[in-house]
Amino acid sequence: MNWTPSGRHFIAGEWIAGTTTFRSEPAHGQAHDFAVGTTELVDRACRAAEAAFAAFSATTREKRGEAVTLIGTQETGLPEGRLNGERARTTGQLRLFADHIRKGAHLDARIDAAQPDRQPAPRPEIRLVQRPIGPVAVFGASNFPLAFSTAGGDTAAALAAGCPVVVKGHSAHPGTGEIIAEAIAAASERTGMPAGVFSLIQGGRRDVGTALVTHPAIKAVGFTGSLAGGRALFDLCAQRPEPIPFYGELGSVNPMFLLPAATAARAEAIGSGWAGSLTLGAGQFCTKPGIAVVVDGPEADKFTSAAKAALEKVATQTMLTNGIATAYHDGVDRLRASNAVAPVLAAESAGRDAAPNLFETNGSAWLADHSLSEEVFGPLGLVVRVGSPEKMLALAESFQGQLTATIHMDDADLRLARDLLPILERKAGRLLVNGFPTGVEVVDSMVHGGPYPASTNFGATSVGTMSIRRFLRPVAYQNFPADLLPQDLRN
Ligand code: NAP
Repeated sequence: MNWTPSGRHFIAGEWIAGTTTFRSEPAHGQAHDFAVGTTELVDRACRAAEAAFAAFSATTREKRGEAVTLIGTQETGLPEGRLNGERARTTGQLRLFADHIRKGAHLDARIDAAQPDRQPAPRPEIRLVQRPIGPVAVFGASNFPLAFSTAGGDTAAALAAGCPVVVKGHSAHPGTGEIIAEAIAAASERTGMPAGVFSLIQGGRRDVGTALVTHPAIKAVGFTGSLAGGRALFDLCAQRPEPIPFYGELGSVNPMFLLPAATAARAEAIGSGWAGSLTLGAGQFCTKPGIAVVVDGPEADKFTSAAKAALEKVATQTMLTNGIATAYHDGVDRLRASNAVAPVLAAESAGRDAAPNLFETNGSAWLADHSLSEEVFGPLGLVVRVGSPEKMLALAESFQGQLTATIHMDDADLRLARDLLPILERKAGRLLVNGFPTGVEVVDSMVHGGPYPASTNFGATSVGTMSIRRFLRPVAYQNFPADLLPQDLRN
């Protein structure tokens, strides 16, 4: 199907054009012009969201479930290939959330019966339920134009909670944002939702994002993106006269620890598996396992050689945006210039293209140079060789917060794995054994988040049904007549 974006914003039920435009930079195909966002439009969308809040938060879970499901079924006309998988994930996510809220488990309802005869004083009846917090601002990431963007995880979670959403469109995929907004508009109309329940403001200017997170009507922000962008917006949220939670899912290097028995048994298989995970989607995944920690010796040589051999076979890939490609080449140059690391595979690429690069270093050099632990977004890996299994523990301690940490182990590695575990539990939101962290299941038990800088709000997840909890807050109702209680708390 041929679909041409109109380049407009979608604000509270209306498609709005603009006089100033920015041009998209697609990897292939025709570029299009999109209206640049303005602070006036941010204000209009946020006011409409606030106006819609009372009606939307009062809709039944059944009704909201219907609306959320419908968004998931109306997407059309999107690019093929990888996006097909991501589309299925996005629509599956919406259906999962719809089912989840229908069951009501996210409400965590609690009832303490009254004790009128309690001495020395009677106890009143108290009931608790989670209520939606208010309008939510959503910033999607460039690398997941569907699953982490306009109708992605944060939007689904906020709508499921009962919160209107104002999306700041990502400038890397404005057309995708627009077509998804069309689907949301249709779903919201068909299910009779109030107009302000969803708005999309195209970007093109940084002050659109800053105006959005500082707007008084916005009560929380869901963000997926870079550490620099996330930190800037997080600081703005904290500085507001009324500070609000900023749920930022940021970058991570996702360390893998290769324990000795597993490395002796299958160094080559782990090395080639790692290469596959490193280069999936041109390495543009927040869960890319960028660092492999291994005990120095012949097994480490086998592992590194296998990874190099597999990486050599990977063709150059096109990166998501010119900016991300430039940042990747800068990251490669930074490691090439460092005395602390040695190149294992140095492949040349330029412009929007990225070829894989592999480096190695040792434990002492790693511990001395903090910059080696920074994320390089793209197909780049770093092997860290340590002098002994025990040295792995010190290395694990040195990591900042991570989305994931992986242990490759066999039965004979159990003792070392037990020592490593309490350290890694404090570092990462998801721990894996004998696998690779790219590929995040959308399920009830998923945690996608971790201590800073993996995310700005640890204790929360942006994937899986627990993500809905970010946009709810508990309210206790003491001594309420049944007719005044929220629907979800009546017997
Ligand atoms: P990004 O450059 O930070 O952009 C994300 C969004 O924030 C965009 O809408 C961007 O606006 C806006 N933004 C960034 N800095 C801003 C600022 N200073 N003021 C106002 N708005 C600002 O991130 P990205 O390039 O899309 O994504 C790549 C990064 O995301 C990688 O580091 C990756 O690891 C991380 N990521 C994390 C996860 C996760 O779940 N933890 C998932 C995917 C990706 P513009 O449209 O104007 O650029």
